Amino acid sequence: MILPEHLQQRLQLLEILEETGLNTYGLPVSSGCGPTMVVKGRECINLISNSYMGFSVHPKVKEAALAAIKEYGVGIGGSPVACGNTVLHERLCEIIAENYQKPACMLFATGYQALAGTIQGILTRKDLALLDSLDHRSIIDGCALAGCKVRSFVHNDVEDLARLVKTTSDQAITRMVIVDSVYSMDGDIAPLPQINEICRPKGVLVCIDEAHSLGVMGKTGRGLLEHFDLPDGADLISGTFSKFAGAVGGFLAGPKEIIRTLKVMASPFVFSASLPPVLVAAVTASFELLRSEPEWHQRLWDNVHFMLNGLKELGFDTGSSCTPVIPVMIRDTQKVLFMNRRLLDLGVYASPVVHPGVPLKRERLRLGVMASHTRQHLQRALEAFRKAGQEAGVID
Ligand SMILES: *Cc1c(COP(=O)(O)O)cnc(C)c1O
Repeated sequence: MILPEHLQQRLQLLEILEETGLNTYGLPVSSGCGPTMVVKGRECINLISNSYMGFSVHPKVKEAALAAIKEYGVGIGGSPVACGNTVLHERLCEIIAENYQKPACMLFATGYQALAGTIQGILTRKDLALLDSLDHRSIIDGCALAGCKVRSFVHNDVEDLARLVKTTSDQAITRMVIVDSVYSMDGDIAPLPQINEICRPKGVLVCIDEAHSLGVMGKTGRGLLEHFDLPDGADLISGTFSKFAGAVGGFLAGPKEIIRTLKVMASPFVFSASLPPVLVAAVTASFELLRSEPEWHQRLWDNVHFMLNGLKELGFDTGSSCTPVIPVMIRDTQKVLFMNRRLLDLGVYASPVVHPGVPLKRERLRLGVMASHTRQHLQRALEAFRKAGQEAGVID
């Protein structure tokens, strides 16, 4: 088979990475996602995951999952419109609807499908999506699936959004602004109060992607609406269980009529197998842990502040992050890859993010801080960062 040209080009880059021993993408892991992970047979401090609360390996979550497997097996054998909607699914929907004070909720097999299905289900070809320039790929792909028009505004720039809202006014179309609550690469927060002020009076629907926010933001982890004390701050709330719960699955919460129609209109919901009951049970147990063991939420934020301060004291630039998503800005592909490799040698597993994942000169190591990290884990990680950063010439 002749490889298409764009794949040929990418293959060459991958081969260069491989030859220089700098490729650390997707190494085989042989442990669960705890504060440390076994990577290529060696235990490393886990700063690469999105499992912020560390719940995927919590004994109560495992116990709930095992009980669900005993009852239901490993999958439910169909789409949610067939036999894929169990009483466990209904119960989890109630928990999420209650979390966000919304009348209804539906579950998707992944967060990617939830965002794609929400957008494809609501917007048609004549409609318009207003996207932040750093929105997650699932949102961009959702717009492609919908075939809707797309306009994007400068990241977190509410004046630019206001301009867009003003210049695209048209009674005949549905307009929806879709933003990440917490940005997945920079760890900064969407200015939701201003977005509401700009969009709501003009009839622009507000949809937030709670992926990195649910379980994390707000006094009790209910998300961005709790953080801003804006209970009615979004028309539609979509998100994932792959971040705070470290599991798999996605959701959409919103008005009853939307959920009812999307259950037959959203292709990623209708034409894909249902989230397995074992995962529904695990995620339900994770929500229960958020309420019954609030100390994890406190520990997460203590750890976030410790890491942000520690990295800054060493002289690193952590950009605009104020959440468990921490970019360590290096701004040079070679240095990012070198530092990442060196960190791994020193027993720290982090994620190198280079072009085209981020714009040129925005290359960084991306860290995910966890509630289950001990102070000792984080101190060891900072020490490794000091060594690797000095060797790479990033810090003095
Ligand atoms: C991870 C992520 C998703 C996709 O969620 P999955 O459940 O992992 O498919 C969607 N949006 C954002 C902002 C994310 O970070």
